[in-house]
Amino acid sequence: MSPLAVSLGMDLSWRYAPGAAMGEFLAGLRKRRILALRCEGCGRRYLPPRPFCGECRRRPSGWVPVAHEGTLEAWTVVHQPMLDGRTGKARPSPYGMLVRPDGADTTINHLLVEPGPVRPAIGQRVHAVWGETLRGAVDDIEGFRAMSVRLRPFEPRDRDAVAAILTRHFGSPRIVSRGALRDGVQAPGFVAEEGGAPFGLAIYVDGGQEWELLAVARERPAECLGAALLDAVVHRAISAGAERLVATTTDDNEPALAFYARHGFEVVERRAGAIAGYRSQKPEIPETGVGGRPIRDEIVLSRALRAPARQTGAPGRTGPAGAPAPPGTAGPAGEALEGAIRVPFRYAAGGVSSRFLAALRDEGRILGARCPGCGCVVCPARSLCPRCGGATAGLVGVGPGGTLLCATEVPGRETFALVRLDGAGTSMMHHLLGSVEEVRPGARVRARFAAERAGTILDIAGFEPEGDS
Ligand SMILES: [Zn+2]
Ligand SMILES: [Zn+2]
Repeated sequence: MSPLAVSLGMDLSWRYAPGAAMGEFLAGLRKRRILALRCEGCGRRYLPPRPFCGECRRRPSGWVPVAHEGTLEAWTVVHQPMLDGRTGKARPSPYGMLVRPDGADTTINHLLVEPGPVRPAIGQRVHAVWGETLRGAVDDIEGFRAMSVRLRPFEPRDRDAVAAILTRHFGSPRIVSRGALRDGVQAPGFVAEEGGAPFGLAIYVDGGQEWELLAVARERPAECLGAALLDAVVHRAISAGAERLVATTTDDNEPALAFYARHGFEVVERRAGAIAGYRSQKPEIPETGVGGRPIRDEIVLSRALRAPARQTGAPGRTGPAGAPAPPGTAGPAGEALEGAIRVPFRYAAGGVSSRFLAALRDEGRILGARCPGCGCVVCPARSLCPRCGGATAGLVGVGPGGTLLCATEVPGRETFALVRLDGAGTSMMHHLLGSVEEVRPGARVRARFAAERAGTILDIAGFEPEGDS
């Protein structure tokens, strides 16, 4: 006879209760907003939200919207077509990716919607693609689509382009800050490029504990890109262990002061009249700047990159006693989401099991396989003996009566029995037809066959106490 193969499937129903913090985040998605949870202790903005800050162990408490654009931090190709758990269909884009939306300090794991105009690369700018109907689930964002802009570390081949950008924005590639004159073209940094041509940059000085941002400049007005370039330096500095990032600007430059304020910088020093002295080092510095205002003072700003010293006491205690409960811990609990994952598969029984199943279907007989090595009769019949590991040889009829070894009940669902059939040396698990209350270990039971049989183990409907009919 030919071996049997049957198509089977599992339906895994799930219900996900997101909890307060995640619930608020998901509620934001339903309104087409991506919300990060900000830690007041260290300023980190967590996305997806976390109930506790991993850095300073406070409870993050402030919700801040982050951009729908971000930077690709890592990506991977999944060559195996992935089945979408909701639809059971293969996902069209076999990519997984880690995206850090602008304004967030962590990445989220999501899908690339399509391979996009360019092959994805670390530093690729991406934007969120929203689904048509939003239900407050993470897949309200269908995925992220690659844009043609990419951020990457500054390379020697970028020198001419970087010199040109610096000259347009700062009069020359030479940068003066806090009394030091530097060649911006020699500084490390990041460029934003499109089609290989840099059009934006952020350059810095790696000063160990204190990094200095020398310049952020872009050739087109794009707030997101300025933030993304700044973020690239911030995250490089954090991973290098820096404690703060310093930036300087001049008193005329209100847009720059506003930009730094939005991104967590505070003014720490005003060097009154410093620019006049800098003009002796860099004569290109003009007399007037933004809006025709005179350029006189240097403004020094700083942003902390690390958490302040940890609070003593129990981890997770929020700051001042009596402070109002932070949103995210006392907010709406969030509605539970429900769904099902379908896992279709095909089970090939193999030679011995096929004969076991065919005997159930065609003859209403239960077969065991005899092991010549140890004498055990294995039921259900299998090609290998579970007792000694040897190959079985020859089939014998067992049961249909047997002894109940134990039974258990999954409340509201099914009752299961472990049965050793007469003549068998092993036990099999199946349904108990009846209540666990009616039987005790050692009770006699008997197989009842299904009225319609298809060549599966369910051709035995179950085991019922002997004497019942
Ligand atoms: Zn923190
Ligand atoms: Zn054996």
